[in-house]
Amino acid sequence: MLLDNHQVSANAWQVRARHIKKAFFNLIFPPVCASCGSVGALLCHNCRTQIPRINGKICVHCGRLVAAAQPVCLACQKQAIPLSQIRAALLFTPPVPDLIHQLKYKGAFGLAEPLAELMADCWPRWQTAVDLILPIPLHPNRQKRRGYNQSDLLVHHFAQQLGIPGDTAALRRVRNTPPQVGLSATERAENMVDAFRAENGRVAGKRILLVDDVCTTGATLTEAAHALLAAGANSVSAYCLARAT
Ligand SMILES: [Zn+2]
Ligand SMILES: [Zn+2]
Repeated sequence: MLLDNHQVSANAWQVRARHIKKAFFNLIFPPVCASCGSVGALLCHNCRTQIPRINGKICVHCGRLVAAAQPVCLACQKQAIPLSQIRAALLFTPPVPDLIHQLKYKGAFGLAEPLAELMADCWPRWQTAVDLILPIPLHPNRQKRRGYNQSDLLVHHFAQQLGIPGDTAALRRVRNTPPQVGLSATERAENMVDAFRAENGRVAGKRILLVDDVCTTGATLTEAAHALLAAGANSVSAYCLARAT
């Protein structure tokens, strides 16, 4: 779509007005770092640089940390995953669990922007060909209780940084599964069976990148990938904010 000169200058003014509004708001209510408490940013420069990135040897398929001599982990040797790869930006070690807890359960949804920036910073190392980025959806009942889906917010900012389209409606959670926390790997896989449905018209023929906050065994990503491939997706890969070890 082409914009005429009036529209371009109107858009430029809208962006400028948003920046001025944000600067004014920050002056009255200065943001506080969610990790160290210093005033000035939701995640200060010092904490950003110290957050542990993944840079050890990983399984070429599922992204688990492995010994240097073992390019494919034991789990993937037993059963191949349906995703072309799973990768993550950060290690799920302090302060990352607390930041994700604040993002998900404490209403600190503003953290999605600096955390998605960290994902974008680490992406060049893990990048793969992608046509469309999708969040792992919450069941509508859970999203209603929480008020938002943290993965939607991560996709919004991450897709914008990469300049790749995001779609928060192409994949739906059709079963309200109990939380995965505390379950074994087998129980996690059983818990997620048939949990998702994908919209054929939105995903068919596309290389999909799934985004989620934390990856533990990959059970949720695996079930979402099954639904996407059944709906005609060309391939499915995943990129998470953090990887639990
Ligand atoms: Zn800090
Ligand atoms: Zn693996």
